[in-house]
Amino acid sequence: MKNITVIGAGTMGNGIAHVFAQTGHKVSLVDISEAALEKGTATIGRNLDRMVKKERITAADKAATLANITTFTDMRAGTENADLVVEAATENVDLKLKIFKSMDDIAPAGAILATNTSSISITKIAAVTGRPDKVIGMHFMNPVPIMKLVEVIRGYATSDAVTEQIMDLSRKLGKVPTEVNDYPGFIANRILMPMINEAIYSLYESVAGVEEIDTVMKLGMAHPMGPLQLADFIGLDVCLSILRVLHDGFGNPKYAPCPLLVNMVTAGKLGRKSGEGFYDYSGGGKELIVADAFKQ
Ligand code: NAD
Repeated sequence: MKNITVIGAGTMGNGIAHVFAQTGHKVSLVDISEAALEKGTATIGRNLDRMVKKERITAADKAATLANITTFTDMRAGTENADLVVEAATENVDLKLKIFKSMDDIAPAGAILATNTSSISITKIAAVTGRPDKVIGMHFMNPVPIMKLVEVIRGYATSDAVTEQIMDLSRKLGKVPTEVNDYPGFIANRILMPMINEAIYSLYESVAGVEEIDTVMKLGMAHPMGPLQLADFIGLDVCLSILRVLHDGFGNPKYAPCPLLVNMVTAGKLGRKSGEGFYDYSGGGKELIVADAFKQ
């Protein structure tokens, strides 16, 4: 697989384009927004600069990586020669179904269509295409150039051959692929989100404050980041929407999102991206919101 199309140049899309381009693939990076493409390629450039500075790659490697990336706002032009498409557009079911229908029409018949979705059913996405055996989840972690894991998710109809190809390709990117089946939250979010939700419940029930909860998990469980800080980093709206997928998908009350999380999202406190969540990021760093330490 030589020609890779990445749909979406946001947080994940630019990282995915980066790792494919750095491993010698020709990447077509597609976004509906010219500004997103500019921002995405600037981010790739900055991340490559950092690697040159740390002497992990040479300046020539950086130039070769950037030369492997072409940007498009026209999905047809960016997809018609693809061997593999990795979709990393906004997490919205209707949008993804629309994109997969178009990609199925445009991409060559043999092309594999992958999605980086965090929570949408691969089987559901595959069902709108005429090639469900070639639709698969390729769930990279943020930040993509650094994180080793790729959760490879088999939809109900994904073939063994396509799964093997994606596992092999992930290894060629220097990643560690892990095969999982298509059930709500896959593995990463099925385990992570209930932990984050429980941390929020512990705060809501005044069992401990923000810093105390994060300290217990960091020092007691050797987690590099506490669950509340991690929730801020992921985005509280994203955490809420994944919990709703788990709750709806399994119909089990244990996944019900904590009312405090619902309130914070409704109030626009989305974590790092909005400047405030469990911590305050307005000053550039991460500050504990002392007055709100026990948010009720
Ligand atoms: P983002 O908002 O940073 O980027 C999404 C990009 O998609 C935007 O640039 C937007 O302009 C573009 N887009 C929207 N509609 C499009 C279309 N029709 N065609 C082409 N581009 C389009 O989002 P993100 O955080 O990069 O998330 C992308 C995907 O990755 C989502 O499915 C998300 O669930 C998943 N994901 C995110 C993370 C994370 O930590 N952010 C981690 C793993 C997986």
